[in-house]
Amino acid sequence: MNANTPSGLGAIERGAARVDVSDKRMINARADVNQLLPLKYRWAWEKYLSGCANHWMPSEVSMQADISLWRAPASSGGLTDDERHMVRRNLGFFATSESLVANNIVLAVYRHLTNPECRQYLLRQAFEEAVHTHTFQYICTSLGLDEGELFNAYREVPSITDKAAWALEHTRSLSDPDFRTGTPAADQAFLRDLVAFYVVFEGMWFYTGFAQILALGRRGKMVGIAEQYQYILRDESIHLNFGVDVINQIATENPGLWTESFRSEVRAMLAEGCELEIAYGRDTLPRGMLGLSAESCERYMRFIADRRCAQLGLPPLFNTTENPFTWMSESMDLTKEKNFFETRVTEYQTGGTLVW
Ligand code: MN
Ligand code: FE
Repeated sequence: MNANTPSGLGAIERGAARVDVSDKRMINARADVNQLLPLKYRWAWEKYLSGCANHWMPSEVSMQADISLWRAPASSGGLTDDERHMVRRNLGFFATSESLVANNIVLAVYRHLTNPECRQYLLRQAFEEAVHTHTFQYICTSLGLDEGELFNAYREVPSITDKAAWALEHTRSLSDPDFRTGTPAADQAFLRDLVAFYVVFEGMWFYTGFAQILALGRRGKMVGIAEQYQYILRDESIHLNFGVDVINQIATENPGLWTESFRSEVRAMLAEGCELEIAYGRDTLPRGMLGLSAESCERYMRFIADRRCAQLGLPPLFNTTENPFTWMSESMDLTKEKNFFETRVTEYQTGGTLVW
């Protein structure tokens, strides 16, 4: 036992040879995982820096307009019953999803990803997931929502339970204390978990979730939540791209894992993710509203699924070319200018609260 164990917690091997960059690997590395430098995967380090540059806190966003609108009856310009139902379902999905994603990173992925620059990003991502969970606490408290209803939605609303249960199956096998990578079967189980959480959960389900709230925001409704979702979306687009880079890098380093049959298995997982999201969309938008319906969410899900296939070098599932929510790409471009809600974009002051 020496420090060159996957965890990095083994006994220190005194006077061992220094880390050579060519020894660094995504999984099953021989190189000491406690040494960040020399860097091998610059993309992971760049994402860590981007994540830090995007720092924000939910409490910086005013909830005043949302609180008034939420309290207003439909007869005097408040939300319709369908809009309220959609908001509740949407918040119910996200309130625990951020915790599921955080637990997967900390309790399943981190242990098995044997690269320090990737771990550095995972630590940043874990904090961002905490900020996202904080967002739902902040929304729940601001609007005076029933916290039991919100945080139990993933156990009480079948269309949400089905999604969470599908993803949990993958993280459960990895978080087993006896799970070890190093065999083709185990390494593929690790890849399946990455696909389930980074590509399907964060890269597909979150995107339709963001679109639902941002569609309301575009019409001037629940603009506080919509602004928070834009910040979350900015974070999540990096989470997704990190996951895609990790999967592709593991596939490149271990071509024996990324076989023809495994690739079709991954595509099938994305197709299952679509089906689950379509069922959830019907439940969330039983009648549809201005600019948003279960049908448009379904088309958007197919469009996004094809993009995720392309990012993983897989053939498309649906051959869709039409994006029903073209405005979603604008809202991903927060850094360029003030966003379309004309609220402020916070330039985060590092250490701004320190008083000496
Ligand atoms: Mn998140
Ligand atoms: Fe995330």
